[in-house]
Amino acid sequence: MLHKTFTLAMVVPCYNEEEVLPKTKKELEKLLHILIEKGLISQESFICFVDDGSKDKTWNLIEDFAKESHIKGLKLSRNFGHQNALLAGLFYAEELCDAAVSMDADLQDDISVVEQMCQKYYEGYEIVYGVRKKRDTDTFFKRATAEGFYKLMRWMGVDIIENHADFRLMSKRALSWLKEFEEVNLFLRGIIPLIGLKSDIVYYDRKERFAGESKYPLKKMLAFAWDGITSFSVVPLRFITILGIIVLLLSFALSVWTVGAKLSGVAVSGWTSMMLIVLFLGGVQMLSIGIIGEYIGKIYKETKRRPRFFVEKIEP
Ligand code: UDP
Ligand code: MG
Repeated sequence: MLHKTFTLAMVVPCYNEEEVLPKTKKELEKLLHILIEKGLISQESFICFVDDGSKDKTWNLIEDFAKESHIKGLKLSRNFGHQNALLAGLFYAEELCDAAVSMDADLQDDISVVEQMCQKYYEGYEIVYGVRKKRDTDTFFKRATAEGFYKLMRWMGVDIIENHADFRLMSKRALSWLKEFEEVNLFLRGIIPLIGLKSDIVYYDRKERFAGESKYPLKKMLAFAWDGITSFSVVPLRFITILGIIVLLLSFALSVWTVGAKLSGVAVSGWTSMMLIVLFLGGVQMLSIGIIGEYIGKIYKETKRRPRFFVEKIEP
């Protein structure tokens, strides 16, 4: 190969992953060696495991792995969540690499496409998104909710890449620009496209988790989706305005009718309609206050500027 090779970092956030880590390490090492041998990446390329405050033996394993020169380990001081753990790993890697690939510890993403990502990097792409071809391994429910979520985000005008989780390659420059997004409430999938730069997609089949269990149960998934929506769009607020206009127009019509009824002497009866209106308006107002409240909550969290993670230890 004619071009100068680049240094690749593979960043892997881990939360209670003792069951999968030994195999994951082996697979990633294999991949690293293949890529080095093919002359795609430099000898200095490395794997960076981030322990996101695991309660099991994850950190002990990582410490052990880090005795080998091509493996580094970060230990966060507590559980900060997937997005923050990823960020910690990427920021650390940025100083040592030319490009970083982020991936899950359970190897649900097909790591063999990393080679394609590297090739794209040589073609000048600075962000390469891994996108799932099918979602066969997901339950019908997860598929349906995910699809609905992407549709909704698109409809609200958020530039989000469908079926892309956090499996992607980013150049050093993209990583350093990512640092400038200082949001506490981080939704990486939505932020990365805002960086711009030349980007492309590689497709892969998502596999089943081979051991351990998902750290994203339904409740967390819905919270994540809602966070994504409120962090990127004020359409829900506009929805309240539109709802208000509709209710106002209806109330005009109803006022005319009410006055007419009074003048023609058929007023008084109408307890049912009165109740319906009171209940309806009560509901609309509560919903509206709730939505506004969500945004105020976001502002509250953002203004406090709490640190997104603390790195307690770095190995080696
Ligand atoms: N993860 C993390 N911190 C958390 C939750 C998850 O670092 O608080 C990591 C986890 O170890 C895995 C990745 O995030 O490497 C994705 O989690 P998981 O596979 O459980 O999610 P799913 O694939 O089911 O969406
Ligand atoms: Mg997974």
